[in-house]
Amino acid sequence: MNNYPFSIRSKLPRVGTTIFTVMSALAAKHQAVNLSQGFPDFEVDKNLLDLIEQQYRAGHNQYAPMPGVLALREAIAEKCYSLYQTTVHPETEITITPGGTAAIFSAITSVIHPEDEVIIFEPAYDCYSPTIELCGGVPVYIELKAPDFTIDWETVKRRINHKTRMIILNTPHNPTGSVMSELDMIQLEKLVATTDILILSDEVYEHLIFDGTVHQSVLKFPKLAERSFVVYSFGKTFHATGWKIGYVIAPENLMKEFRKVHQFNVFSTNTPVQYALAKYLKDVSHYNQLAAFYEEKRNYFLELMRPLPFTLTPTSGSYFQLVNYSKISDEKELDFAKRLTTDYGVASVPVSAFYYRSKDQQLLRFCFAKKKETLELAAERLQKLV
Ligand code: GLN
Repeated sequence: MNNYPFSIRSKLPRVGTTIFTVMSALAAKHQAVNLSQGFPDFEVDKNLLDLIEQQYRAGHNQYAPMPGVLALREAIAEKCYSLYQTTVHPETEITITPGGTAAIFSAITSVIHPEDEVIIFEPAYDCYSPTIELCGGVPVYIELKAPDFTIDWETVKRRINHKTRMIILNTPHNPTGSVMSELDMIQLEKLVATTDILILSDEVYEHLIFDGTVHQSVLKFPKLAERSFVVYSFGKTFHATGWKIGYVIAPENLMKEFRKVHQFNVFSTNTPVQYALAKYLKDVSHYNQLAAFYEEKRNYFLELMRPLPFTLTPTSGSYFQLVNYSKISDEKELDFAKRLTTDYGVASVPVSAFYYRSKDQQLLRFCFAKKKETLELAAERLQKLV
């Protein structure tokens, strides 16, 4: 058909196609091993697949309640209590969403007004800033301190003013794999204590945390929890990113506003998967074993990559490993990532894509949520760089 014959006033003039889509498409075109977009290439637990089949065969195929199936919300409340010793009310403080991104979208949209400032730490996951802009809000970018990508709380203090409405956290962090400490949380708590600043805490990689480090959820800090939307993802936890199912936790008055948006954004989330997850969550080993499972993958990936001329600092959490290639090339990250895909057959993501002003540090992000043979094939292909 013809194009729309008038000019369009874009609501997101700076936004193109996401780097994950771009790199995954390039990987497919060149039959590259795809370590770019974050998703596992191994199978979901067969028991969970059986549970889902049972649920849709049992007739759970119509709309779920708007906030989610109550049995699942109850199972989540139990999980929160056992992991974070926090009592979360299933009826009023939990909502099931079609994935983490939808939860983030509804949370930001429900509270951000035009001119409100939202602090984001860079490199930052790609959906935060466009969502803020769609609300007329103003993203305020603060860089994480290299080399270990920590938060400089003095800088945060300086950037807070009467327009600051929200701070977005992400721990374990995508793309750097850094993890916030208890001290970080205490400093944040002090900083916001005398303000009405809200927190959006993206904790979708809560179970992917290594070397004995403990995940510091904002839920463990009552003074933070009372002002927070906390976002989680079953896709990340149960190796099924394609199911698009996650949830958000917030105090009742924030959740009321969240649900006003959620009900008109998506209304409700996939019903049979919710019933199945409610049963599956009862066995805590299904998520408690994840840290060890992924730590082994991280270690194996590092072992394969070590003989190559990259600089590697082991990632502390998430399923991403950053790799510095300054010993190999001084090309820009995007150019190098594309060349690795087209000429060497291994796709990654340039970290520059996670900065508003595309900062180049010769860093690539590799996803190691892959079968051993996938990681081996990637390393074998990268041997040609030597
Ligand atoms: N969270 C995934 C990643 O960081 C990407 C999801 C997406 O493609 N939007 O790779």
